[in-house]
Amino acid sequence: MTQRKLPKLEPETAAYWTSGADGALRIQRCADCGTYQHPPFPHCSTCHGESVSPEVVSGKGHLASFTINYEPWLPGLPVPFVFGVVELAEQVQLYVFTNVLAEIDAVRVGMPLTVQFEQHGDVWLPMFREDAA
Ligand SMILES: [Zn+2]
Repeated sequence: MTQRKLPKLEPETAAYWTSGADGALRIQRCADCGTYQHPPFPHCSTCHGESVSPEVVSGKGHLASFTINYEPWLPGLPVPFVFGVVELAEQVQLYVFTNVLAEIDAVRVGMPLTVQFEQHGDVWLPMFREDAA
């Protein structure tokens, strides 16, 4: 299996990193104003309310920006790979930074993406691949 640097599970971020266990991506959302935010934070950065909790999202989005990484940061990490900024479908400027599972010569800004999880023990890393649908 590909070596990955795994996130440390903190109270605020654990829901995000373990969400994929049931196949759904969850993003923190404010119950007061409805705004999604990522990464998770103890209060809403829009209305400053504290009624924030993880909510299931579609797992769909598009590639807003990307870099191609040629540096093997970890032994066992195949290069090159695509590291992308994914703008989720739920909200403008709701970004997730993660690996994009795509061929280097096929990756392009604006490509439709769907989430795909890679399990490492308790952690389900959310990554994205092209949404063919
Ligand atoms: Zn709010």
